[in-house]
Amino acid sequence: MLLVVGATTGLRGSPLGVGAGGGTSPQAAPRALRVDRFDAARAFAFLRWQVALGPRPAGSPASRRLAARLRARAPNARYQAVPGGLRNVIATVPGRNPRRLVVVGAHYDTKDIPGFVGANDGASATAVVLELARTVRPRRLRPTVVFIFFDGEESPAGTPGGQFETAGLRGSRVAAPRFRRAEAMVLLDLVGDRDLAIPREELSSPAVWARIRRAARRVGAGPVFPPRTRPGVLDDHVPFLRQGVPSVNLIDFEFPCWHRPCDDLSAVSRRSLDAVGEAVLEYLRSL
Ligand SMILES: [Zn+2]
Repeated sequence: MLLVVGATTGLRGSPLGVGAGGGTSPQAAPRALRVDRFDAARAFAFLRWQVALGPRPAGSPASRRLAARLRARAPNARYQAVPGGLRNVIATVPGRNPRRLVVVGAHYDTKDIPGFVGANDGASATAVVLELARTVRPRRLRPTVVFIFFDGEESPAGTPGGQFETAGLRGSRVAAPRFRRAEAMVLLDLVGDRDLAIPREELSSPAVWARIRRAARRVGAGPVFPPRTRPGVLDDHVPFLRQGVPSVNLIDFEFPCWHRPCDDLSAVSRRSLDAVGEAVLEYLRSL
């Protein structure tokens, strides 16, 4: 679960929000990007593979299978234990400057709702982060990049919304202190929506977001990152913010199928994965 914080709440119909669904929005992912460094077909295939596992709530056999696959596919990957028998998967690609560190992350668990397969909420960002980890080569970038797949972002079924920060964000609360010296943290969540628009989420570092937006414009994905701010979302970037790490949440929370059974393959698009993947890759190359 995710929670909107701040005064201007409202998951849908917010005055700051964009229209949900429809598929005809001018903010849909651009058809042609200027670069092709990110393999969106391979990312989308991994999204489909996750969905085929079925529901993947934290601690479930399907979630463990996914964690094992992430550890096998991502470079230099290992588990980090999370209380309750959960596990983060942490992959590392060394940069040329050993003193610099950037974190890129996504949660891989799905909300514990019967029949909920989380094609967007869980699988989309997990797929983009894995593909980024497989694309970045050792010592090509200046900073070391640590790619973290968070377990237990969603709070257990039945948890009151007000307890989300202590009941959810389980993996990120364990990982954040370990990487508190990072110069930036980029969280991806809900990045597969067919009608993708990622304004700056209110808690997100304006400087890091502006840099990602400039990178997006360079690769032709500028329309996906509109220059406005939406209300804050309590998510896996918050434990990093609390450690003093400038962090952003790349999230399209105007998603009509959020925590609903319709968050399936019909809700997501390969072009959206491509726009976000190319933008974040360009951002990492610019550091
Ligand atoms: Zn969720």
